[in-house]
Amino acid sequence: VGDLQLAGVVLNVETESQPVYDKSKKVKGTFVTLARNQELYELIKAVRGVEDRFNRKFNYDWVFLNDEEFTQEFKDLTSSIVSGKTKYGKIPKEHWSYPDWVDLEKAAKSRAEMKAANIIYGDMESYRHMCRFESGFFWRNELLDEYDWYWRVEPGIQIHCDLDYDLFKFMADNDKKYGFAISLREFEKTIPSLWQHTKDFIKEHPEYLAKNNMMDFISNDGGETYNLCHFWSNFEIGDLNFWRSDAYRAYFDYLDKTGGFFYERWGDAPIHSIAAALFLPRDKIHYFEDMGYNHGVYTQCPLNPQYRYDHKCNCDPELDFTFRGYSCGKRYYEVNKMTKPAEWENYQ
Ligand code: GDP
Ligand code: MN
Repeated sequence: VGDLQLAGVVLNVETESQPVYDKSKKVKGTFVTLARNQELYELIKAVRGVEDRFNRKFNYDWVFLNDEEFTQEFKDLTSSIVSGKTKYGKIPKEHWSYPDWVDLEKAAKSRAEMKAANIIYGDMESYRHMCRFESGFFWRNELLDEYDWYWRVEPGIQIHCDLDYDLFKFMADNDKKYGFAISLREFEKTIPSLWQHTKDFIKEHPEYLAKNNMMDFISNDGGETYNLCHFWSNFEIGDLNFWRSDAYRAYFDYLDKTGGFFYERWGDAPIHSIAAALFLPRDKIHYFEDMGYNHGVYTQCPLNPQYRYDHKCNCDPELDFTFRGYSCGKRYYEVNKMTKPAEWENYQ
């Protein structure tokens, strides 16, 4: 401050273009990122983007988790850019290792077979621990105990449009439990037995099936088979208390006991999605259609040009995935009787 005054400049950080938000109205929310040290420079772009498009106005905290110790460089750089508090956790061994009922030889054999079949991440042991962690353990991490809401961010993601409202608070005020941006079909070979186990679980626990659930989004035949549609979990805004619920804990434990995270290659995305679709009434799920978002090969870019100009979007609508190929966007609009964007037919 002294230097700025000497220079005769008053730096007013709360100008008209950056309105002041009433911080007392915030909810107990935090960003959460699982990452490796070597991903720092991919991650920092994502963090910087989320800060610029959203969090510099709201200053939510950020929890970073890793199965190894974070380096000082990782902590220094991320904490210099995050506008809220930063917290760093080393994941406990119980959350990132083989349960004692898993047959390690059988798991190794499955990895070799999946590698031979060219299944993405098929041979990776760490990827399986990651998927199991994101399914069953991130929400049990003690650094998240003080929060109700989380927003997941991965290295390399981009936020393409300004987000001028508090998305955490939106979820809370509208009684939503799970929010997503992109939905798509899973590679069947990674989850060959997941649906059968899910059906077995529901037969044992019919009480967990929500009335007015979203079964029609994930099944085309009333629950007989899984249509592979899932919410892409690298972006999620959700209520941690949903994962902490009896229904989800029981579902995760049931799946975990089968060893399928290791004998197959179950992703956390289909597991989160099946749980949200079945254990929540459909109106508790929120589609952030206003979220310009990119991760890897898929982009969501709002199709309405005026929206893009008003929110300073930097994405190409031609790349919008919602109504294309393996997307489940069209199905989501239809089963939920939502109106598609006026422009959608030009972007199929
Ligand atoms: P993809 O999105 O399915 O291609 O998988 P990613 O490689 O992006 O992994 C998903 C998330 O888990 C990302 O946030 C990664 O940084 C993180 N991740 C994946 N594997 C590991 C790991 O072995 N250790 C740690 N600490 N993070 C991991
Ligand atoms: Mn990723």
